[in-house]
Amino acid sequence: MDTKVVTVQARGETFSYEAEQALREAGEVLRAGGLVAFPTETVYGLGGDALNPESARKIYAAKGRPSDNPLIVHIARMEDLKAIVRQVPGEALVLARAFWPGPLTMIFPKADCVPRETTGGLETVAVRMPSHPVARGLILRGGGYVAAPSANLSGRPSPTAVRYVIEDMDGRIDMILDGGEGEIGLESTIVDLTVSPPQILRPGSVTRDMLEAVLGQVSIDRTILEADSGQAPRAPGMKYRHYAPQGELTIIAGPAARVTDYINVHGAKDREQGHKVGVIGTDEALAQYRADVVRSLGSRQDEAGIARHLYGILREFDDLQVTRIYSECFEASGLGQAIMNRLLKAAGHRLIVLDAADQAGE
Ligand code: AMP
Ligand code: MG
Repeated sequence: MDTKVVTVQARGETFSYEAEQALREAGEVLRAGGLVAFPTETVYGLGGDALNPESARKIYAAKGRPSDNPLIVHIARMEDLKAIVRQVPGEALVLARAFWPGPLTMIFPKADCVPRETTGGLETVAVRMPSHPVARGLILRGGGYVAAPSANLSGRPSPTAVRYVIEDMDGRIDMILDGGEGEIGLESTIVDLTVSPPQILRPGSVTRDMLEAVLGQVSIDRTILEADSGQAPRAPGMKYRHYAPQGELTIIAGPAARVTDYINVHGAKDREQGHKVGVIGTDEALAQYRADVVRSLGSRQDEAGIARHLYGILREFDDLQVTRIYSECFEASGLGQAIMNRLLKAAGHRLIVLDAADQAGE
């Protein structure tokens, strides 16, 4: 199929004539059961009508995604929530007031009108209200309920720019709306409100501290940072080897000087064996690395920048056919918890912790 790519610029919630035409056309595509990729403040989404089981099937096919992995339903107005969930607990209203529209997804018991195809067979439904004006404009013109996973092929990093959406989805979907780069660069925080206390199933830029500040106690799914907790993650999608670059990625933790030594010594050995070696570093240490491809996530002082740059760098390493990748490690608190969750998944939990006494090359 031919995929139409259209640039849609928004100034606040108002659109140019051309943007308005494109949004209307995209809304019609959704209502007719077609698929449209669109920008959000987190990553690009791959949208279909959330109340149409055929649209959900098409989304799974376009992504090559297992159909037991449920989709998040995106809405644009608070009054639309009650039609798709069986009940709205008080906590949801508190969270919506604090974080919607924005990068927070909540899990509710689903209403009958939401097909099982959308929820991956579950009796619960995940709902988010994005803040990106293009996403909101599309949802409002596309029937109000847009099921949208990230617009990448299953197993690849989520797309943070339209060129990555085109790379993965050209020829597989009806339309792509180009709305520039995502502001956040990591997927939304997911909170399950069907359990008490509410539980974080996927960390994101709405952090545990931010949730606890408005809700009181919030628990966290143990599988989020542990390699082998012996439990299945409660968000079905978290069990898949996600976000993975094609090269073997290892995260190196420890004192900065030891980390750079270790990476340089092991990278040199890998290169002798014919590997193309990449390093994911930060501005503070970048000049000290020796490897085929060295990239910075930005300054360690700027966690939001690190989050925003991570997926683009993982994709670039694939394009450059890097076969061994070493990455610095980050503090797993605040936004760092989401960064480390994605990085650990990309690394298949390969993490080496050096202490001050370790010798490089050991
Ligand atoms: P993506 O849309 O690619 O960001 O992935 C959606 C994520 O939300 C996956 O990890 C899903 O497993 C998770 N999710 C969606 N709906 C539910 C639900 N009803 N219960 C638990 N997790 C969900
Ligand atoms: Mg995804």
